[in-house]
Amino acid sequence: MFKKVLIANRGEIALRIHRACKEMGIRTVAIYSQADQDLMHVRLADEAVCIGPASSLHSYLNIPSILSAAEITHPDAIHPGYGFLSENAAFSEQVEKSGFTFIGPTADTIRLMGDKITAIKLMSEAGIPCVPGSNGAVPSDPGAVTALADQIGYPVLIKASGGGGGRGMRVVYQPHELLEAIQTTQQEAQVAFNNDEVYMEKFLTQPRHIEIQILGDGQGHAIALGERDCSSQRRHQKVIEEAPAPGLTDDERTRIYERCIQAAQEMHYRGAGTFEFLYQEGEFYFIEMNTRVQVEHPVTEMITGIDIVKEQLRIAAGEPLSLNQQDLRFSGHAIECRINAEDPVTFMPSPGVIKGFHPPGGLGVRFDSHIYNEYRIPHQYDSMIAKLICHDVDRQAAIQKMRNALEELIIEGVRTNVPLHQKILSNPVFNQGGMTIHFLENLLKNPEEDLDAII
Ligand code: ADP
Repeated sequence: MFKKVLIANRGEIALRIHRACKEMGIRTVAIYSQADQDLMHVRLADEAVCIGPASSLHSYLNIPSILSAAEITHPDAIHPGYGFLSENAAFSEQVEKSGFTFIGPTADTIRLMGDKITAIKLMSEAGIPCVPGSNGAVPSDPGAVTALADQIGYPVLIKASGGGGGRGMRVVYQPHELLEAIQTTQQEAQVAFNNDEVYMEKFLTQPRHIEIQILGDGQGHAIALGERDCSSQRRHQKVIEEAPAPGLTDDERTRIYERCIQAAQEMHYRGAGTFEFLYQEGEFYFIEMNTRVQVEHPVTEMITGIDIVKEQLRIAAGEPLSLNQQDLRFSGHAIECRINAEDPVTFMPSPGVIKGFHPPGGLGVRFDSHIYNEYRIPHQYDSMIAKLICHDVDRQAAIQKMRNALEELIIEGVRTNVPLHQKILSNPVFNQGGMTIHFLENLLKNPEEDLDAII
């Protein structure tokens, strides 16, 4: 096992990785920007190195700075967390070239899966069901592209091959909007992702977002740790996640797990990964694969009892998977609320100093966060400051536990989206379960629901 790991990330996930390392007897190196010297894991890590100014571009995305920090602290391996450089093939390559182990898949896998067109092609070859679409970049000939959209059927979705984070997508409802929509998406994709390639998919009107967590040992053995339902989204960004997905039949589960396991085994997948699907009328449609640990991984940990970050460390150190598929036991239901420092009505970020803090507790309540009293939330980074996860015997009990936990949680000095979560958890559609990806946007649009009343 590794003796020392460098954590190339910040915030809650950096602390999460630090904890897993310490529990396994591994020393940790924190890297941080000038805006982040007060981060909790920076205090707790065995060593800490400042890698540059607040701007991510010059710190958490700066490969030479991170590698220099590694050169002077001599870790065995580097954990990229999520976001930042976690799905950057060049980073993984340079980490390995510099003699450190990258905790994640090979650079080749990251590169293939990072390009959505290639990923979809590979997955459909591996027998994974995909959304009907262009099977590659859209043709440049206007006649051909119009015919293609007609054949797929409107509405269609134009998606950037290099897209991510819910950006680089445009729905087209009418044929006359098509060519202009393609051109605009291409231009935006060029600026945002330095890749103007776009593809076309059928726009599913009532899908749910269901994803499968897998672990692969890089030697052809893979397991599926079940699914998560991440349909509660705003602007294609997840807000609440849960496991298992309500209402799936055992048969549907087994079939999709088998497909994902097989695909992961065929590509000798190494590490933790997620197959993301849209699910509509009993059918799964692959949309993308994430080659890293995800924000929502704790709900899977709660129902399986498996520490996904520790598994990542073991796999990267060359150990075989500790479990077989038949050894897995799924228990109860888990829900995660992403707590953001933002206005619950306008969604404007609300950075600043935390002036009062009390995390919720009790059996089955997990609070993954780096915040503490008097901590200053910098304005330069993502507004997510905590993840509240509740686990209980079934969905109803988990919802009730989450309601109580949100009630107990005190974060003062900045605004948070806790009132939004309370509104969602008291909504009858949410309580029924199995909502589509439009549920939350519809809830926010509904003028009868007065959010101010519960703030
Ligand atoms: P990103 O990498 O930006 O997260 P994804 O391909 O994972 O992009 O899609 C993000 C979200 O966009 C999905 O969870 C879903 O809400 C919506 N979406 C993506 N593809 C489709 C589609 N073909 N039809 C309807 N909604 C879609």
